[in-house]
Amino acid sequence: MIQKFRYGFLLVGCIILFSFTCLAQGQQIREALRPKYVFLFIGDGMGKNHVDLTHAYISSAKGKIRKGKLTFTGFHAYAECTTGSNDNIITDSGAAGSAIACGVKANNGVISYYPEYPKASMPVSMAKKAHEIGYKVGIITSVSIDHATPAAFYAVSESRDNYYEIGYQLPTSGFEFFGGGGFKYPKGKNIDKEDLYQRVKDYGYVITNDIFEISSIDTTAKGVMFVNPVLLEKGEMPYGIDREEHGGYELKDIVREAIGYLFNEKGFFIMVEGGKIDWASHNNDAAAIAQEVIDFNNAILEAFSFFSYHPNETLIIVTADHETGGIYFTEQNIDSLNNKGYLNLQISSVDYFSDVLSEYKNSNKIYSLPDVIYLANLHFYSHPLVFTDNENQAIVEAYDLYFYNKSTLSNDEIEIKYGGLNPLAVVFSKILSDRAGVAFTTWDHTDAMVPVYTSGLHSVYFNEDMDNTNFKSILDEIMKW
Ligand SMILES: [Zn+2]
Repeated sequence: MIQKFRYGFLLVGCIILFSFTCLAQGQQIREALRPKYVFLFIGDGMGKNHVDLTHAYISSAKGKIRKGKLTFTGFHAYAECTTGSNDNIITDSGAAGSAIACGVKANNGVISYYPEYPKASMPVSMAKKAHEIGYKVGIITSVSIDHATPAAFYAVSESRDNYYEIGYQLPTSGFEFFGGGGFKYPKGKNIDKEDLYQRVKDYGYVITNDIFEISSIDTTAKGVMFVNPVLLEKGEMPYGIDREEHGGYELKDIVREAIGYLFNEKGFFIMVEGGKIDWASHNNDAAAIAQEVIDFNNAILEAFSFFSYHPNETLIIVTADHETGGIYFTEQNIDSLNNKGYLNLQISSVDYFSDVLSEYKNSNKIYSLPDVIYLANLHFYSHPLVFTDNENQAIVEAYDLYFYNKSTLSNDEIEIKYGGLNPLAVVFSKILSDRAGVAFTTWDHTDAMVPVYTSGLHSVYFNEDMDNTNFKSILDEIMKW
């Protein structure tokens, strides 16, 4: 009887040992097949034609036709992605960021916020999932760090406009790296709240705007928040096209330092947003768009060179949250076919030139058209242009509206024509895009499908057209977290 009991005991012991071995092996296999280093690049507002526009921009800068090449368009897998939100065919960045991060459609305007779910089964962002399994996490953007797209990965809020509440959640995420823009309202909208930068420090993070300091930060620090030394009024980095004027770092510099800081044997997940592709598109500012896509591409190049050292462990996904501007191409009405060279004549953004014009307006009492043309040739065009009659007429109309509030158009027509922007800056920019054959259907987002370019381990999963909720479901499958 005792003997039988012993054998029984032994058998149960063997079964338990076998199960543990299988579990451990299963775990090892899972980990071996799981990409250790995952990059997700989101070009905010970047549709397929933004990419084509940039190709043409690069080509014409070299005096060639259709020879420009961006790194990510050569990736192994290509698909297109639907972007509509839970409550609108046309999404905003809040809903799209939430769907990409958490895999569940959200309403426009929210940040990974799903009130219909019980707390225990609330959708969680892929960044948080990666962090749970021991990956280090980096969140990088060229706009403010509390903006909708980055926020969807580390925060939950019923409104994307709750910038302070979103920023308040940043250090509690425990993510190791934040980089790019700063907080939009560090002390709240009324400047009466606890300083968010101090709060981030109190949580054990090092905050720096010296990019070379990142590699020497003490390993005992909870993480790093790198804030670009030059920020504009919404806490964002300047446009690439204005960088020479403003200074500061590029997205690629931040990605390079983040890779160095986060690299470890267990793995990392890095989300990078090219946030101002969208902003330039809202301004229908074609040259600024092309420069933002180039900056975005250069940041991807940093990931791609990392990938070349870790080809069997790295996955790079490049996509967009939606299309902005409804870009299309027309037959050029001035120059020969396929020549987008006119865009290369633009040396600053519509926003930058709007500031130049408003300074001129505020510091003078008498205005003149030759002064305005002089400012355009100094700050906006690399060479003086000879305007056609139609172009001259458009300039005069915008001049009368901007300086003397004179127009034959109704307020609604003015809104449609100039998008609520500085009408003169819009006209000077539109002269170039018209000549280059680049047109916009809207100042806002569209429902166009966006491109998905993927390289690396398991990129084959991203070879078929998809919905933006599939990024998370595919990662669920390949990460098995
Ligand atoms: Zn937008």
